[in-house]
Formats: sequence, C-alpha cells, structure tokens
Amino acid sequence: MATQKYTIKGKTGDWELVIGLETHVEVHSNSKLFSGASADYNPSVPANTQASFVDAAMPGMLPALNRECVDQAIRFGLAINAEISRKSIFARKQYFYPDLPQGYQISQPPGKPPVVGRGWLEITDDNGAPKKILIERAHLEQDAGKNKHDMHPSKSFVDLNRSGVALLEIVTFLDTKNPDENSYITSPDEAEKYLRAVQETVRALGVSNANMEEGSMRADVNVSVRKAGEKEFRTRTETKNMVSFKFIKNAIEFEARRQIEIYESGGTVSQDTMRYDQNSGKTSVQRSKEDALDYRYFPDPDLLPLVITDEQIERIRASLPEMPGARRARYTADFGLSEYDAARLTESVETSGFFEEAIDGKKERAKPVANWMLSELSAHPEFEMKPGDLRELVDMISVGDISGKIAKDIFIKMLDGEPGAPREIAERHNLKQNNDTGAIAAAVDAVLAANAAQVAEYKSGKTGMLGFFVGQVMKQTGGTANPAAVNEILKEKLN
Ligand code: ADP
Ligand code: MG
Repeated sequence: MATQKYTIKGKTGDWELVIGLETHVEVHSNSKLFSGASADYNPSVPANTQASFVDAAMPGMLPALNRECVDQAIRFGLAINAEISRKSIFARKQYFYPDLPQGYQISQPPGKPPVVGRGWLEITDDNGAPKKILIERAHLEQDAGKNKHDMHPSKSFVDLNRSGVALLEIVTFLDTKNPDENSYITSPDEAEKYLRAVQETVRALGVSNANMEEGSMRADVNVSVRKAGEKEFRTRTETKNMVSFKFIKNAIEFEARRQIEIYESGGTVSQDTMRYDQNSGKTSVQRSKEDALDYRYFPDPDLLPLVITDEQIERIRASLPEMPGARRARYTADFGLSEYDAARLTESVETSGFFEEAIDGKKERAKPVANWMLSELSAHPEFEMKPGDLRELVDMISVGDISGKIAKDIFIKMLDGEPGAPREIAERHNLKQNNDTGAIAAAVDAVLAANAAQVAEYKSGKTGMLGFFVGQVMKQTGGTANPAAVNEILKEKLN
C-alpha cells in the first residue's frame, strides 16, 4: 500500500500539519485535590453545595493533598510507560478570573519535573500503521469553578462545585531538537485517534470517565503548518477548551488553512490563543498568547514537595489492569482474531470480560464466540445472555451435536424468553443434529429418486445443482441432518 501523507494543498504547494494536544481529564476520586469536598462534579447538583472553605479560598484555609489523586496520576503514568518523578512540586499560577477565588491555580509548573514525565500512547496513522505519539508530561492541577451568565438578565453568578477538583493535564511532546514526524500528531484523524486512546486508557484504569459531552475531558489544540519537507517548525496557535472530537478535527483543519492563507499572502502567523465558533466552524484570534512568565509561578508555600516512593509505585504497578492495546494485541496473536474483531471486543471492559468468560481459556472457542458476540448478540443488546450459555452453544456446534442453523433456532427461543440452558432447550424440542450416516443416506436416496430430471441435469455437468439437493435433503430431515455429511454423501451418490 502506498503511504500517503496528510497535507493541505495551497497556492504555493503542499503544507504539512504539526499538532500538539494538551488534554485535561477530571480525576476520579472521592474528594478534591486539596479539599475534602466531594469531587463528584455534576451539573445537576445544586450550585455551591460541594464547595468547602478551601475551595472558596477563605482566608487562612490550608490545602491538604489528596493522595488518591496522586495514585491516579501514577496509574496513568505507568500505563503510558512514563517516568514517575520521585519528587515534584506544586506552584501557584496567578491569574484573575471570577471563577478562581484564590486568584491562582495550584498546578505543577513548566520547566520543573511533573509527577508524570515522558511516555507514549500508540495509535494507527492515516495509513493504518502503528505510530507512537510521545507524551511530554502529565501533571496534576486544580480545576476552576464555573461562571453562570444565564441565570439573571444583569447579574452573573459563580458555582464553586467544580473548583478544586483534580485535573490531570496530559501534554504531547514535540521534540524540536530532534524532530521525528513519526512521534507527533500530523493530521486531524490522528488527533482524534490519540484523544480516543487517552480516553480509553484513563477509562480502563478508572482514572477518569473522560466524557467530552460532560466536560470531564477537554483539549487545548496547538496547530502550526510548514511547507512539505521543511525542517524547522513554525509558530503555532492554541485553541482552548475543546469538548467534541468533531469540532477538534474541524478546528484543526480550519486553523491550518487560515495559517496557510496568511503565509501565502506574505504575512506571518502570531502566537495567539484562538476561539472556535461551533456554528460557523471558524477559528478567530481571541488574545495574544501569554507565556509562563505572565503567570508569575512560584512554589506554593502551603504545600510540601510531592514525594513518591518506589513502594508506592510498585504497589500501583501490581494493581494495573491489562490495557486495551495490550489486550487487542493478545486477541490477534493468541486467538487469531482480526484487528477489527479484536478492536470491537475490547471496546469496553464488560465486552472483553464476557468474551474471556465465554471462551474460558480455550483458543478454539475464540473465533465462534467472537462471531456470535459481534453478530447475534450485538444485534440484540437488550438480551443478557450468560457467557456460559454462549460457550455451551458454541461447543454443541463444534462437536456436531447441533448445526449452526439449529443453534440459531435455540438462540431465538432464548431471546423469546424460554428458560433453560441451550442443551436443555435442544433436548426439550428434540433439536439434535442427525449424524446417523445410514439415515442421511436413506434421505439422500429418496431425494434423488424423486428428482430424476435434476439428477440428469447435474450429471450433464450442472454441478451447481448440488445446493438444490442439499436443500431438499435438509427439508426431508426437518433441518436436522449434519450438513457436512449430507454434502459428502450426495457427492458420493451423484458421481
Ligand atoms: P505552553 O507552555 O505555551 O503551553 P508547550 O511547550 O507546553 O507550550 O506546548 C504546548 C503544546 O503545543 C505541546 O503539545 C507541544 O507539543 C505543542 N507545540 C509546541 N510547539 C508547536 C508547534 N510549533 N506546532 C504545533 N504544536 C506545537
Ligand atoms: Mg501548556
């Protein structure tokens, strides 16, 4: 397959995209990063009922680190094969906004080791080849509250329920000294795949439910363009707080085209923070980008450095579940499943759990179980089949007790609410495959005798007629004859 690189055609030639994502996921924990208030942020909870004095920044209140959030960050770090910093610090990032009563956000500052260092997540590129996207860092920080502008015609309100909830910010890496285009995101589709990989990973770990619609996963999208083949990176812009895969892809493409037009008409792109308008699908300049100095970071004097021990890391490592990527690889390598089947079976922990219970360690069951799950079972999501029942059904087919056709009849009876396991149902209705070659041969003889004209046709060379005879024999035996035996005996008698 020819490998095709994602580029955008301009008036002066082809342009490549360089994309960096800063993804925030809300960390799953009982309480907030530095306060005891519930971190179960959800918009239906009445405003300010889950905010403590710490979250409201009352004078003299002291933050106390929630170690569970740290464990969650470590969990993510280990899953992306990252270095975990044994010592990192929390700093105050100063800015003013009404939803930030402290006047600063407690975060882990740039230029200092964050709790999670360099790691990677694997995606497939636009040609279907595996690609490791490098991650520069993941750090813990506080979420802000929410301004409410829609409750009163002339007043605004602030809800602090979300204030202080832990966020894990995951930043992709762009190695400007040693650029390798196989290590960063270069197309809108890759951006989506990377975000889905982040989502799938934090969900499998129980680190976050990472729900974009609910705002528990949000991304800042950095985009720059350069002429195909160019060595240096150009200036990027950043579109903040994106909460939909579709909008992110649109924004990347629109922003890239906007920059290309600027360059091609002789202008320069400035490092701005952009706003994306969902209705028009356009990005526009919101403000010029602030840099780290603007925030006057300094170590938070109320918090000790975050120290992580080897024992803590090993305890967490031992508790990690299998990651979806590793599980997919195991399904294709050990069970001979297609990439597509493996991907579908690992979409959720429930699905892969069902699959594994149904095959119960037997490789030969993998394909038929996968086929049943991805066809019959997924067509009837309301039907809760027991994994053991599917195992029994598949085993009955493989030993020849029933045909695939009979299995489907049994399945339909189960769907209709008939009680009992597949074998019981088969016995109750006498749905057994007939493997008695003597009886099958007799049925074949009867069919051939009753269809002399068709037999003559077959013998004159129309071997495609075989299916007709098979159908007749199946009819004669009430659908119970073993189809393989029917085929074999028919061929024998016709030749
Ligand atoms: P800041 O500190 O301003 O947020 P970072 O260095 O942390 O900037 O980078 C933020 C994101 O932008 C990272 O994912 C990084 O890979 C990406 N990025 C940096 N330079 C570029 C560029 N020239 N083009 C596209 N993305 C970039
Ligand atoms: Mg940043």
